[in-house]
Amino acid sequence: MLQFDSIIIGAGISGLYQLHKCRDELNLKTLAIEEGSDIGGTWFWNRYPGARCDSESHTYGYTFSEKIYKNWTWKEKYPKQNTILKYLKYVEKKLDLKKDILFNNKITSAKYLERKNLWLIKTNKNKVLLCKYLICAVGSLSSANIPKIKGLNTYEGKYYHTGRWPKKKVNLKNKVVAQIGTGSSGIQVAPTIAKKVKKLVIFQRTPNYSIPARNKKLTKEIINKYLKNYKKIKNLIKKTPGGHTFNFSSRSVFDFNKIERNKIFEEAWLKGSLAFRACFGDITKKLDANKKASNFIKEKILNTVKDKKVAEILTNFDHPFTSKRPTLNTNYYEIFNKDNVELIDLKTNPIIKITKKGIKTKYNEFFFDKIIFATGYDALTGPLLSLNLVGKKNIKLKKLWSKSPKTYLGLMIPNFPNLFIIQGPGSPSVLTNVPVQIEQHVEWITNCLNFLNKKNKKTIEPTISSAKRWSAEIKKLADASLFMKAKISWYKGDNIPGKPKVFIPYPGGLPRYRNICNKVEKNQYKEFLIK
Ligand code: NAP
Repeated sequence: MLQFDSIIIGAGISGLYQLHKCRDELNLKTLAIEEGSDIGGTWFWNRYPGARCDSESHTYGYTFSEKIYKNWTWKEKYPKQNTILKYLKYVEKKLDLKKDILFNNKITSAKYLERKNLWLIKTNKNKVLLCKYLICAVGSLSSANIPKIKGLNTYEGKYYHTGRWPKKKVNLKNKVVAQIGTGSSGIQVAPTIAKKVKKLVIFQRTPNYSIPARNKKLTKEIINKYLKNYKKIKNLIKKTPGGHTFNFSSRSVFDFNKIERNKIFEEAWLKGSLAFRACFGDITKKLDANKKASNFIKEKILNTVKDKKVAEILTNFDHPFTSKRPTLNTNYYEIFNKDNVELIDLKTNPIIKITKKGIKTKYNEFFFDKIIFATGYDALTGPLLSLNLVGKKNIKLKKLWSKSPKTYLGLMIPNFPNLFIIQGPGSPSVLTNVPVQIEQHVEWITNCLNFLNKKNKKTIEPTISSAKRWSAEIKKLADASLFMKAKISWYKGDNIPGKPKVFIPYPGGLPRYRNICNKVEKNQYKEFLIK
């Protein structure tokens, strides 16, 4: 049986960097295993129309190598899906990674063999492999959620999930199309396809706050400025809570009268981007301050959408702005002024079933050529649970996490020795500009493996008590935040029936989290059992 020092599951942004670190820096015999037929992870699967990143391009990528950073040119403010894929292919070539990646293999199980201190990995292509260190680089948003709607199996047309969009072109021209879901993905799909479909019916469960992205081509001056400021940017994104270049203003919405306040909102609105939420320091912290931002956004939507009833459905918010992931859009609200776009409010007109030809709601029956599910993910825990991980004493991860995910730092799990997670539940992950957190995790894991090897240690796992303390810390921070005010939020598992309802990522911000991780490393992993 083939045996490796380290096996990495996934060849997206995190898997690629971890492969480079394990193989080229630690000299470990390493293999990455990837379900897809190529590298890219999220950006391999999310090839839906309009797919584009909400992080600004000069901050979305690796910063570990000045050469890699500077030999690549981002041409737009926000990179689109296939540009990011090209970027990752560029990095892969530079580091010569593909020769150590096994594609088209999905992990079906991973079991820890206590007597041998090895992980036994099986794939759907009947590969059986052993390794000392197992590193899950499976992504936080990779388990696509297609809701179990009655009748879906009887539908005769084709249906798609945004996160599993086919490689082969999907022809939507002059088709009658349903779109279920209006999160970050749906808000990008709708304006892109509204131009070509005959009719688009959007099924909205909860209205979302959306800020204009204001994407643009980058001028040569701006590109050069970013390249010249590589070090500054690299340092800055480590210091802001979300790993972006913007920081939160220290001013309060209540320091200003209505006219002054709206002027500040207006300036931030015209600039666009996720930075809108940071134009005052208390928008994301205090309900009354938040209400001012929420009213401003509502007013903008009401002024854009001509049909008053439709505008009302789009602004019937049931949660504070930023309590769910805010979305960026390009002409999303404008499409509701087109004759070929219709909005269905699932709160008052729910889906009863999917029929052979379309969708039946409480009050209507629709016929569709195609259905698009922009219905999100079984976030953070879903991709890990699908690996069928079994730790020491035959402990199944599914059982261990049946009431809540238990990790220390979102990096390791008690009773699962030598198993590392990049961006796991309990880490800032989805609350950040993802590549920034990925680099931090990969570097922490690499340093930990280096420590173990140097000290000639066989295994590491967090103590049960440190994992308990970490869960309590997350709960305390989440309870004090606005995140818990959202009714249905994938941050706390509400979107998946049967999933534990607890806040999953670490909400204390990236700098604070990084400091904790650094301290643990400096103190030689006192919170862990090392043998
Ligand atoms: P999402 O934010 O979870 O949105 C899913 C949408 O589907 C929501 O509108 C949700 O309604 C609806 N939905 C879910 N189950 C449903 C059901 N059974 N019936 C009717 N509607 C249902 O998923 P996403 O849009 O794919 O985005 C997920 C995350 O991925 C984002 O928050 C972001 O972190 C990342 N992402 C980023 C980008 C970007 O950077 N541009 C793009 C795409 C995704 P409720 O709100 O009521 O749950």
